[in-house]
Amino acid sequence: MNAAESNPTPTEAESTTESATKSNFIRDIMIADIESGKHGGRIQTRFPPEPNGYLHIGHAKAICLDFGLAKEFGGKTNLRFDDTNPSKEDTEYVEAIKADVQWLGFQWDGLFYASDYFQQLYDWAVQLIKADKAYVCDLTADQTREYRGTLTEPGKDSPYRNRSVEENLDLFERMKNGEFPDGSRTLRAKIDMASSNLNFRDPVMYRILHMEHHQTGNEWCIYPMYDYAHGQSDSIEQVTHSMCTLEFDNNRPLYNWFIEQLGIFPSQQYEFDRLNLTYTIMSKRKLLKLVQDKLVNGWDDPRMPTLSGMRRRGYTPEAIRNFCASLGVSKTNGTTQLQQLEYYVREDLNKHSLRVAAVLKPLKVMLTNYPDDLVEEMDAVNNPEDASAGTRKVPFSKTLYIEQDDFREVPPPKFYRLSPGKEVRLRYGYIIKCEEVIKDADGNIVELRCTYDPETRSGGPSTRKVKATIHWVSAAHALDAEVRMYDTLFTKENPEEVEEGQDFTANLNPNSLEVLTSKVEPSLLDAVAGDRYQFERMGYFCVDPNTAPGKLVFNKTIGLKDTWAKIEQRGK
Ligand code: ATP
Ligand code: MG
Repeated sequence: MNAAESNPTPTEAESTTESATKSNFIRDIMIADIESGKHGGRIQTRFPPEPNGYLHIGHAKAICLDFGLAKEFGGKTNLRFDDTNPSKEDTEYVEAIKADVQWLGFQWDGLFYASDYFQQLYDWAVQLIKADKAYVCDLTADQTREYRGTLTEPGKDSPYRNRSVEENLDLFERMKNGEFPDGSRTLRAKIDMASSNLNFRDPVMYRILHMEHHQTGNEWCIYPMYDYAHGQSDSIEQVTHSMCTLEFDNNRPLYNWFIEQLGIFPSQQYEFDRLNLTYTIMSKRKLLKLVQDKLVNGWDDPRMPTLSGMRRRGYTPEAIRNFCASLGVSKTNGTTQLQQLEYYVREDLNKHSLRVAAVLKPLKVMLTNYPDDLVEEMDAVNNPEDASAGTRKVPFSKTLYIEQDDFREVPPPKFYRLSPGKEVRLRYGYIIKCEEVIKDADGNIVELRCTYDPETRSGGPSTRKVKATIHWVSAAHALDAEVRMYDTLFTKENPEEVEEGQDFTANLNPNSLEVLTSKVEPSLLDAVAGDRYQFERMGYFCVDPNTAPGKLVFNKTIGLKDTWAKIEQRGK
């Protein structure tokens, strides 16, 4: 199953969208705010990842919006690590996130950590206690949940809700000083236990966690919750438009409540739809499970939806940005076809990749009437889409490799490539005819004996035509290469669709990686990790970092549109 074959690709009009930000409701709000002079017409955004995993293609959508919109309006964008949960976070992730944002083509104005603001957040918490808007609560986590009530039932007041300001100040300070064990107390906002919005039922602002933090070390043993930290961090940075995904819709009133109570810069939150892609999962928790359980080879496994995986696979930042620009920004979540992303990858690679010959599954061809020691240098075009890319010489000789798939002993109807007694053109070479099929003792085809027509050299005067042209490499000159072929990581469009008692890993595609021993043309000798090529007729491939001197390793980025596969499918 190859996802690329079955679904429509975007139209020409969509494909030419180059602006990072086509019209959307957040952009319209910004335009209106600039016109009305709100915040002096200033636009400040932020991208706020939690450093608890690597960035994925969903984050790319958020990054393109946060950075793209600010850039469009001459504004600024901060990269802020939302690092309020030391139990899941790590500097490895901080460094990977920075590298990925830059690779995608964006540069932040300010680089901040929510943990930079721990002292300010603490001081504001004290201010809220003094205003009788926050209290220290001794309920356990389970009790707190019980007291909160449900969507249909109001909550109950905590028995600690009416502690005096003095007692709260004293207890909160002692929480900070490390006098109490994890989970024994929290600081809660005093709002309304009967509110229809559950987030308003005295939300927890601080919890006790005796744990070293990757930025602040052992300085703190109380950590602010997301809802208390996020809006205040936005406000400190004077963020004008704080964009996040739709699931935070219900948190917006609380975001506003803290800012109002504290009387600080009025940042505002706007929610947009999450990117979901078919055959893909995006939850960092689940991606971490794939890595930890070694179901993939690390965060940058080319099958992963992470930016580092896509980079390793050969996707370009331009392609990802164009894909993000093609996505709508809306108020309802949907699922985007993986083919839409692949379309933009193919479109960009087609423009920029050098063409080379690689025989992925080699079959030896001996030209019986070709001189034994002759080596001809054939002229090959580097990129038909880009004349400035020029030409190169490729060696041609008596013994060649062609693709096993380009030969059929018994050709089906409309198969115009090589078969016994039939002719085919070798690209940049000659027309050859298959005279004899050599098999081993088990009946496997090991070699074709062919003749070539010396009058038919490409570019020469002959006008003789055959129906198909195939690629080849010269056996004596070709380099060995390991080629890693990929299919989707999951077999289901929605990997979360599972039988009872299973989890998403039940839908992992057992055939998502196939490793081939291939032959590539000698011009690839000096290829280095990250170089991208089109292997003619086979697709786009990228040099893997596992490449070492004498050991070329390629990842298949994506196929070309395979017309033969379509003809065969239709025939079925
Ligand atoms: P997870 O739940 O997998 O940990 P997250 O949303 O908590 O993901 P963050 O690191 O907090 O991940 O996300 C940083 C920013 O990226 C947030 O503003 C978030 O809304 C946005 N984002 C995350 N996933 C997506 C997605 N699939 N589509 C669009 N934006 C996303
Ligand atoms: Mg998160």
